[in-house]
Amino acid sequence: KPSLSVKDLHVSIEDKEILKGFGIDVKGGEIHAIMGPNGTGKSTLASALMGHPNYEVTSGEATFNGEDLFEMEVDERARAGLFLAMQYPSEVSGVTNADFIRSAMNADRDEDDQVSLMQFIRKIDDKMSTLEIDQSFQHRYLNEGFSGGEKKRNEILQLLMLEPKIAILDEIDSGLDIDALKVVAKGINEMRSDDFGCMIITHYQRLLNYIEPDFVHVMMQGKIVKSGGPELAKKLEEKGYEWIKEELGIED
Ligand code: ADP
Ligand code: MG
Ligand code: MG
Repeated sequence: KPSLSVKDLHVSIEDKEILKGFGIDVKGGEIHAIMGPNGTGKSTLASALMGHPNYEVTSGEATFNGEDLFEMEVDERARAGLFLAMQYPSEVSGVTNADFIRSAMNADRDEDDQVSLMQFIRKIDDKMSTLEIDQSFQHRYLNEGFSGGEKKRNEILQLLMLEPKIAILDEIDSGLDIDALKVVAKGINEMRSDDFGCMIITHYQRLLNYIEPDFVHVMMQGKIVKSGGPELAKKLEEKGYEWIKEELGIED
């Protein structure tokens, strides 16, 4: 089973410590929701794990399938099956969406095991219909002129095409209307298997109405302060985050 294990992670941006002892274990077959107020370091966690150069890992460790994650090059992480959907996906001019996805699929394959154009087309047609994405999407430049909702759907399309081992989905639900939210959830649920583990980072509980997480973690001030099951997310939806601060004596 794939695994991502993070221990006592400390990460700084411009000498300011943002992650202050974050830890989690994600295994194949598990969906973890990471929830928390704005500014607690959720996106910092995602960026640090993917190796964004602005994020300095000052201490702690992370292993991906037993290998030291921080010793792996950034593209090596992706090729080994770690997937990150970013809160603000970037636009890439001159590269069509289909080309981008196909080269990403082929990047971790041997020369004699490349995905053929026919295989690729069959698969992308199938996944696009699952996600109710218009065919013209394939030929548009990556994320260029995509609406917020289109970008999010496209991230899920990439997820279904690349079939990573572990995915980190940062605010994949933000700015989506209810129909788009259901489609995104359908895509993630389709990935569910013992060969796939997922960290869903979200501020709101509503996506979790359609994807039942196995674990819910609350993150505050750079680390997990409370963990539970799906009922914890429901309680957060009803009561917000204040009660946790009071319970744990956390001050802003
Ligand atoms: P979240 O995703 O939980 O809303 P972030 O990880 O985006 O939180 O931000 C955590 C903290 O790090 C915030 O105080 C934010 O202002 C700060 N921060 C995030 N990115 C940068 C950056 N590029 N430069 C400086 N500070 C940053
Ligand atoms: Mg934020
Ligand atoms: Mg964020």
